[in-house]
Amino acid sequence: MPSPADYAQFEEEYLEGLDPRKRAKALISQQLFDDIWLVLHAPGAQCVGSPQFRWWVRKMFILALPNDLDEETPTDPGSLVPAMVPLEAPDTSRQTLPVVAHDGKRLAVREQIYDVLCVAHARAEHGGRDKTMAEVKRRYTWVPKDLIALFVKYCPTCMAKRTPLRSPPPTPASNISLTSQASVLAPTTPQESPCPRSRT
Ligand SMILES: [Zn+2]
Repeated sequence: MPSPADYAQFEEEYLEGLDPRKRAKALISQQLFDDIWLVLHAPGAQCVGSPQFRWWVRKMFILALPNDLDEETPTDPGSLVPAMVPLEAPDTSRQTLPVVAHDGKRLAVREQIYDVLCVAHARAEHGGRDKTMAEVKRRYTWVPKDLIALFVKYCPTCMAKRTPLRSPPPTPASNISLTSQASVLAPTTPQESPCPRSRT
């Protein structure tokens, strides 16, 4: 798997390649998630974000109990990434609290996407982008396809598989200069964005 440091680097490159208007909601940070959580729990509240933000939240997300989600029950609890709930929520409430969902899947928070991708890519047995994405989508939404592609691209195991056996050993991923490969990080096409821009 790519190291957390490598991941942080190409995640940043991914965000910088996006249209600035899409960047803010391309990945849901814990802070943004907490605001979404508040809006969904107090639909009448005027204190969180702008009216446009509250409209966007109500359009995109619902609160759902984990049992109501369209997801498989994991057979290996060790492979579970902790439920996405606000940081201040007590541990004991994590089993019964509703989760923020979009399209029947729970929302992946930016800070946990690395872990989600490690689990998904392992379950895909180092398969390509599409196989890894299919594993991600068994439980989570809001993990951009292009970010998954980068994760696979910089996975050392997958890099070794792509390298012919008789050539010299591949350069360790940590030594690769991402900035020299900026061309692969071109802005994404609008239809690939998981975050439709709101009208208002
Ligand atoms: Zn791999």
